Amino acid sequence: MVVENKRIPLATPTMHGEENDYIKEAFERNWIAPLGFNCDGFESEMSAYLTENGEYSCLCLNAGTAALHLAVKLAGVKRGDKVLCSDMTFAATVNPVTYEGGVPVFIDSECETWNMDPCALELAFKKYPDAKAVMLAHLYGTPAKMDEIKEICDRHGAVLIEDAAEALAADYKDKKCGTFGKYGVLSFNGNKIITTSGGGMLICENESDRKKALFWATQARENFPWYQHEEIGYNYRMSNVVAGIGRGQLLHLEEHRDKKEEIYRTYEEAFKYLPVTMNPYLKDSKPNFWLSCMLIDEGCPVDPMDIMDKLAKENIEARPIWKPMHMQPVFEGYDFITANGEDVGKDIFERGLCLPSDIKMTEEEQKRVIDTIKSCF
Ligand SMILES: *Cc1c(COP(=O)(O)O)cnc(C)c1O
Repeated sequence: MVVENKRIPLATPTMHGEENDYIKEAFERNWIAPLGFNCDGFESEMSAYLTENGEYSCLCLNAGTAALHLAVKLAGVKRGDKVLCSDMTFAATVNPVTYEGGVPVFIDSECETWNMDPCALELAFKKYPDAKAVMLAHLYGTPAKMDEIKEICDRHGAVLIEDAAEALAADYKDKKCGTFGKYGVLSFNGNKIITTSGGGMLICENESDRKKALFWATQARENFPWYQHEEIGYNYRMSNVVAGIGRGQLLHLEEHRDKKEEIYRTYEEAFKYLPVTMNPYLKDSKPNFWLSCMLIDEGCPVDPMDIMDKLAKENIEARPIWKPMHMQPVFEGYDFITANGEDVGKDIFERGLCLPSDIKMTEEEQKRVIDTIKSCF
C-alpha cells in the first residue's frame, strides 16, 4: 500500500478548547449579535496584554483591513493626501489608503528586518514634506526599526499607523508591536498567530479615537431615537461569538509564539551549512516568528520557485515572499522611494521563500521539509 505523504501546511488555526467555553456562553445567554460581553472582554484582555496598565483602547472589528481603514480615517487622510507606505507587505496594508482617496508612496525595505527603510523614509519626506501619514507593517512578525521611524514621523508631523497584523506578541526594546503608532492594527485571520476565524482589532492611544471608530463601524448612527445619519458609516463590527474564539486564543498566545520560535530555530540550525539565511531581526527586538522564511545567498543559482515546486511535490506548502507593492500592476504609476537606488524589496522577493510554520507540525514533519530543501542544493 502506498501511504500518501501527509500535507504540511504553511500555517493553520490551532484551537485549545477554551474558545468553545466562551462561544457556549454566548449561545446560552443568546448574545449572538455584534458587540457584547465577549467583545468587551477581548478588548480589555488585549489591552492588558499589550501594556502593563492597559493604557491603550482596543476595538474589535470584523477584519484587520477594517481596522486599517478606520485608522486611515482617524489619521485624517483626505483625497490627494500622500501616505508613505511599507512596500513589501500584503496588499491589505495599502488598499485602505486608497479607500479614502489617499495616494500611497512606497518605501523600500532594508536588509536587517525586511521592513521599511528609515533612510528611504527620510528621503520620501524630503520629496513629500506634507505627507499626512506613515503606514508601517512589521513583516512576518519581525519588528521594524521603530526608534528611527518614530523619530522621523514625529519630526515631520506625520501620523504613524502600525500594521501589526502579523506581529502580535512581537516586541521591540520590550514594547509590544502595535503600541508605537498613534494607531495600531491587529488581525485574527485564519493563518495569523492567533485567530478568530476572521477579525481584527484597532489599538488607539485615546479613548475618544476608539469611540469615533466604533461610531463609523456601526453605520455612523447618531444618538437619536430614530436612525439619524450625518456621516457615511460602515458595518465593521465583530460578532460576540467570534470574539469568544479570540478570548480563548489569547490565553495561548505566548505558547504559540514560543512554538513559532522553536520552528525558526530548527530551520536556522539545519541550514547552517547551506548558502541560505533566515529572515533577519534586530538583536534588541523579539519577533513572534509568525512565518519562518529563508533567503538564498546572492549569486547562488538555486531558484526559490524550484524549491517551492519540489516541496509541493512532497505535499508541503511553501509560499513566495510578499510581492512588493511597487511591482504590482494595480499600483503601477505610484512613486517608489529607495535609499540608494537599489531595489531591496525586489531582491528579497526574488531570493526568498516562506516555509511551513504551522505550530502543529511535528519534528518528523519539519525534518521532511528540511530534507526536501537540502536536496535542492
Ligand atoms: C493579514 C494581514 C492584513 C489583513 O488582515 P485581515 O484580518 O485579513 O483583513 C493586513 N496586513 C497584513 C500585513 C497582513 O498580513
